[in-house]
Amino acid sequence: MIKQVGDTQIKPKHIASCHCGAVVLELSLPDGIVRPRRCNCSMCRRRGAIAASVPLSGLTILKGQDALRLYQFNTHTARHYFCGHCGIYTHHQRRSNPAEFGYNVGCLEGVDPYLLGEVPVCDGVNHPSDR
Ligand SMILES: [Zn+2]
Repeated sequence: MIKQVGDTQIKPKHIASCHCGAVVLELSLPDGIVRPRRCNCSMCRRRGAIAASVPLSGLTILKGQDALRLYQFNTHTARHYFCGHCGIYTHHQRRSNPAEFGYNVGCLEGVDPYLLGEVPVCDGVNHPSDR
């Protein structure tokens, strides 16, 4: 678990936002940043974001529910959300575990995701649900 990135402490309730500030999330992160990873699937390789996990109950939309846009493809299981104004990916309901959200580590207040060092890449091309 990662409780500090650079000089930023990960709070038990940490704020995340899109670039323009229309969308603000509160993430419940009592264990810090859990399982940060990249993914090489057709979407994530374009998006480039590092995602980490929270249970569905660990994410609250404080602001911008109406600004969020939903993108789905392929099996339409995962639900990818992004801000309709600035286009930034904020979070998604995961296909590999629909009981979890993935969220954009780069949206966490004060967190520079490039300070995480080496982040594992998961094999989204060969998705567990396709095997
Ligand atoms: Zn935005």
